[in-house]
Amino acid sequence: MHIRFHVKYFKVAFLAIAIFAPLFSFCWGVTGHRVVAEIAQNHLTRRAKKELRKLIGKETLAQWANWADFIKSDTTNTWKHTSQWHYVDLPANLSKDEFIEDLKKLPGENLYTQIQAMSKQLADHSLPLEQRQIALRFLIHLVGDLHQPLHVGRDEDQGGNKIKVTWFDKPTNLHSVWDNSLVEFQQYSYTEYANILDIAGKEQINEWQDTPLEDWFYDSYLLANKIYALTPDGSKLSYRYNYIFMNDLNRQLLKGGLRLAKILNEVLK
Ligand SMILES: [Zn+2]
Repeated sequence: MHIRFHVKYFKVAFLAIAIFAPLFSFCWGVTGHRVVAEIAQNHLTRRAKKELRKLIGKETLAQWANWADFIKSDTTNTWKHTSQWHYVDLPANLSKDEFIEDLKKLPGENLYTQIQAMSKQLADHSLPLEQRQIALRFLIHLVGDLHQPLHVGRDEDQGGNKIKVTWFDKPTNLHSVWDNSLVEFQQYSYTEYANILDIAGKEQINEWQDTPLEDWFYDSYLLANKIYALTPDGSKLSYRYNYIFMNDLNRQLLKGGLRLAKILNEVLK
C-alpha cells in the first residue's frame, strides 16, 4: 500500500516537474549565478570585504546570487516590475557604435539601467541598510545575467526563449540551454566550477575589468550573435554543442565574476 502510494506520488511529482520545467527559464540557473558570485568573492579588496560584512554578515555573495529570481514567485506583486531588469533586447548584427547608441536609448528600466541604478543605491550610505541590501542582491544577480549572452538577445524570439531545440533529445529552448543545460552538463558544484575557472593572470583580469559597462554588454551581444547563427530553430543539441561553446561559456562565467568584483570594489568604499 505504502509503496504504491509513494510510486504514484513520485510519478505525479515527476510529471509536474517535466511539465513546468520549460517555464523556469529565467536566467543563468542557480549554479551559473553562484559561480559568478563565488569568483567575485575571491577578487574583493580588503576595504570592500569590510563594507560587505556590514551588509551581509558572514554570508557569501553566492548565497545572495539567486534571490532576484526567487522573488519572481512572490504573489504580492511587490517585485513584478523587476522582471524586466534581467535583460535587454536589441536588433541583430549592429555595429559597436550602433549597439551602444541603441543600448543607451532603450526605454524604461532594463538590465543596463538597473546595474547602474543598483550600484548607485549600494554606494549611497544615506539610504536605509535594507534598501542597500536589496540593491546588492540585485547587483550580484544582474551582473551575472549580463554575462549570459542571451540576456543581451533579440526581442522577436525573447532572447532565445522562442527558439525550440532539443538537448540530448529532450525538448527545450535555446535560452534555457544557456541558462541551465550547458552549465549543468559540466557537472561541477559551484565552488568546484569557480575554482577551476578562476586562474586568469593579472594582465588578463585587468583587460576584462578595465573596459566600460557598455563594452561588457557588447561582448555578450557578439556572443549572442554567434549563438543565434549556429543554433537555428529545431537544432538537436548534445555533445558537439558543448564542444563548440564550452570555452565561451566558461569565459563568460569568469568575466562575470571578475567584473562583479570590479563594481563592488568601486562601490563599497
Ligand atoms: Zn536573472
